Amino acid sequence: MSDLEEVRKIKRTALRQIEKADSGRAVEALRIEYLGRRGGRITELLRSIPSVAPEMRAEFGKAVNALKAEVAERLKARKEQLAAPEARPAAVDVTMPGRALRLGRIHPVTRATREMCEIFGRLGFEVVEGREVEDEWHNFVALNIPLAHPARDPLDNYFLRDNVLLRTQTSTVQIRVMAGRKPPVRIVAPGRVYRPDTVDAGHSNMFHQLEGLWVEEGVTFADLKSVLAAFARGFFGPDARTRFVPSYFPFTEPSAEFYASCLLCEGRGCPACKRSGWLEIAGCGMVDPNVLEAVGYDPERVTGFAFGFGIERPAMLKYGINDIRLLYENDRRFLGQF
Ligand SMILES: [Zn+2]
Repeated sequence: MSDLEEVRKIKRTALRQIEKADSGRAVEALRIEYLGRRGGRITELLRSIPSVAPEMRAEFGKAVNALKAEVAERLKARKEQLAAPEARPAAVDVTMPGRALRLGRIHPVTRATREMCEIFGRLGFEVVEGREVEDEWHNFVALNIPLAHPARDPLDNYFLRDNVLLRTQTSTVQIRVMAGRKPPVRIVAPGRVYRPDTVDAGHSNMFHQLEGLWVEEGVTFADLKSVLAAFARGFFGPDARTRFVPSYFPFTEPSAEFYASCLLCEGRGCPACKRSGWLEIAGCGMVDPNVLEAVGYDPERVTGFAFGFGIERPAMLKYGINDIRLLYENDRRFLGQF
């Protein structure tokens, strides 16, 4: 092999290796291999120039020096290329699995609300929404709650200004619906309500209610009982037992508290139901004639019943949640379980 052929062979190998080098460290190893002061392959060629036959020496020397310059140039260029972050070929590993999209879940309060509306929908109730900012007439006066009633204490309400407050109950929707249409009316109204309660495991100053109203000729307490019993079986399961206990509300007469058998202990008695085996789910009763008159209905012609329950408590019972605050903390570890 002639000396010039040796130069060409080293050039081919060196350029190919530089092109393949995939890190700064690999480039540096090649620099030492070819240009290293001791034992570098091109360095050795340079040292051998004086021993080449005189007639070949000039041409050989020129070729070796050109090789040295080219390899040095290519090493420098490759090193800079690898240092630029966007060009680093190892930065993207296309074989890595992609990041999975996290699917959202239905919030337990929304889930319970939808399920309740669905059950009442099957019983012929229409879903209506109302405003959260109300005036005193809709929140109290039309519901037969007089000025002296403790529920109207300014400390028990979020007043925004005189006569305007955040609603404390969804019963306001009854008034708005009845004022706007003639009987028959058969509605449920889910929504947020606000009361300045101290927040603890069982109380929140914002919670959800579902209000129901059926006004028509000939509606009786028997209809009320059968509708709420059908709801309890639909929501809590076919074995749910129910009972009605006489009570008092300003806007219904007669009034009752509606209880369902405790799901947690199946009626045997546990701390959640205060050892009674029953849990209060709703307040209900026949709409007071004063309320019907306030919205322009004739209480001699139509009768009706109304009921209202919190959505959180039945939802907590059904899903086994023991602290209402969990529902509002937006902790994905909690919400992801539903
Ligand atoms: Zn119980």
